[in-house]
Amino acid sequence: MIKKFIKRILGVKNKAAANQPAVLGPNEHGINPQLLSSNAIRVTQTLQEAGFKAFVVGGAVRDLLLGVKPKDFDVATNATPEQVKRLFRRAFIIGKRFQIVHVMFGQDIIEVTTFRGASAESSPKDEHGRVLRDNTFGEQHEDAVRRDFTINAMYYDPANRQVLDYHNGIADIRSKTLRIIGVPEARYREDPVRLLRVVRFAAKLGFEIDPETREPIKVMAPLINNVPAARVFDEMLKLLMSGHALACLQQLRKEGLHHGLLPLLDVVLEQPLGEKFVTLALAGTDQRIREGKPVSPGFLFASLLWHQVLEKWTAYQAAGEYPIPALHLAADDVLNTQTEKLALQRKIATDMRDIWAMQPRFERRVGKSPYKMLEHMRLRAGYDFLLLRCASGEIDAEIGEWWTAFMAADGPGREELLARKPKTEGDSQAPKKRRRRGGRNKPKGAAAEGSTP
Ligand code: ATP
Ligand code: MG
Repeated sequence: MIKKFIKRILGVKNKAAANQPAVLGPNEHGINPQLLSSNAIRVTQTLQEAGFKAFVVGGAVRDLLLGVKPKDFDVATNATPEQVKRLFRRAFIIGKRFQIVHVMFGQDIIEVTTFRGASAESSPKDEHGRVLRDNTFGEQHEDAVRRDFTINAMYYDPANRQVLDYHNGIADIRSKTLRIIGVPEARYREDPVRLLRVVRFAAKLGFEIDPETREPIKVMAPLINNVPAARVFDEMLKLLMSGHALACLQQLRKEGLHHGLLPLLDVVLEQPLGEKFVTLALAGTDQRIREGKPVSPGFLFASLLWHQVLEKWTAYQAAGEYPIPALHLAADDVLNTQTEKLALQRKIATDMRDIWAMQPRFERRVGKSPYKMLEHMRLRAGYDFLLLRCASGEIDAEIGEWWTAFMAADGPGREELLARKPKTEGDSQAPKKRRRRGGRNKPKGAAAEGSTP
């Protein structure tokens, strides 16, 4: 009874067994060797020929077992980063705290990690129990226990085609169960990013979250606030670029994780007007990723935050600001708040601003303006964004159709479109402009007065 209790606390069913993996041969695991990358095989082979242990590990093994071609391959080894580096012509040691090696084959990168050791108990932590450093090397079974989910903790040796399974991952693959290794509460405390990872994998793989793994999520959600913003951002980006972003966000909501978890998600999931826009944007992104097309994080975040920008843009205009400067002010506001909380990289923030700033320019379909737009570096992104605004009902679909035609047309065709369409627009824009110009000083002054205490 007591023994059982202690074992439960330690989160280990049978310690001896946890050190001894189940070994599965090709007939038992059924991995199709053709799904393996030849570069991953080269890496494990080279390491093994030099006398080291080397396995394909983590997400790649999980995907292989699911019959899915892995998008990238990680290798785990008992060789140190220095020893790994020496064996390959193009290999680079990355990272300061825990060094890993990137072995490059053209564009392809195989990430090689030395088995991690030392239990989390002895690592330095912050006041909430988050592990700050865990940079010791160890044995393979120690490496396995430090991984997040049972399905992510299996090792595959391409040479003998055996899978080593330390935590009954194969059973969880078969029953489609996402189960954290060890005591869930302790594992979330050590690294709250795992809360996001649960959601990502459950949604992406269509797995059920094991009840014990799910239970503490709601209560522990606020811990994510102590994680450095850059790490949260990386994990968020993985979630949004998983090809299942829509499902992930729905799952976040279901787990009660969107509240206070990320300011961005609070905004996104709770603005009724923006919901259609965000849903369309994410569905589009998911589709592109599933078709293997590139997706820009700037476009993604520009979409997620658009309705926040729109709200502020309207407010600034109502206060008498011109449309274009009003949009820039709105963008500043939104980016300033989000950069602080989300560690948006500068490049991404610049892309977002560009995409937003193009929007009012699409509405000016007179004179040289549309031709200038054709030369814009980010025309494609801006145009895709415009189409989303049309599809969500924010603006008239006709504008999107006009641009589709204008971009496809030849010289005379473009002239004809310009001559045809802007008539009504010119008419509708002229008084708008005049009105603003007329009221320029007054409302602006009023707004300034209003905002000074
Ligand atoms: P994907 O196919 O989406 O990349 P993945 O499983 O490869 O999924 P990564 O984020 O690339 O996910 O991580 C690689 C492996 O490293 C995981 O499979 C897991 O074993 C381990 N891992 C990653 N992050 C954590 C974490 N926060 N805690 C414990 N183990 C982790
Ligand atoms: Mg991976």
